[in-house]
Amino acid sequence: MALWITDECINCDVCEPECPNDAISLGELIYEIDPGRCTECVGHFDEPQCVQVCPVSCIPVNPAHVETPAQLLAKFVRLHPDRSPAPATTAAAAAEPASVPPAATAPFGADRSRAPVAPTVPSGPGGKSPSTPPSAAPARS
Ligand code: SF4
Ligand code: SF4
Repeated sequence: MALWITDECINCDVCEPECPNDAISLGELIYEIDPGRCTECVGHFDEPQCVQVCPVSCIPVNPAHVETPAQLLAKFVRLHPDRSPAPATTAAAAAEPASVPPAATAPFGADRSRAPVAPTVPSGPGGKSPSTPPSAAPARS
């Protein structure tokens, strides 16, 4: 997916120079992302650079522009025909499509009815667990 900027943007101007695809520009009221140029930074970096620097976390994925990593990589090639993509992002593009929901890749094999094992809370001095509130104690079956 391309990313988009919500109306929580404070026009701080930090993200625009960080975009390797020149996909960010000042719109009528706030900064905007051109979905035709945003690759989620695939081909350049492991993480979206605008998201990394935004001080108010107002850059979510754009559900109107669903794209797989391979499609994002193809967009990178279209935008930068004379450049090679960064190896790490190429590997990501060869993996599962971004649209696959997390549950489909859950590490519990075919038995998805299994619940994750609750982490063990180490006991403090004297057998107490001072950092664990009563409500957070694992339920017994
Ligand atoms: S995710 Fe990357 S390519 Fe997309 S707008 Fe942000 S900085 Fe630019
Ligand atoms: S970094 Fe965030 S708040 Fe600043 S201009 Fe970009 S989207 Fe808006």
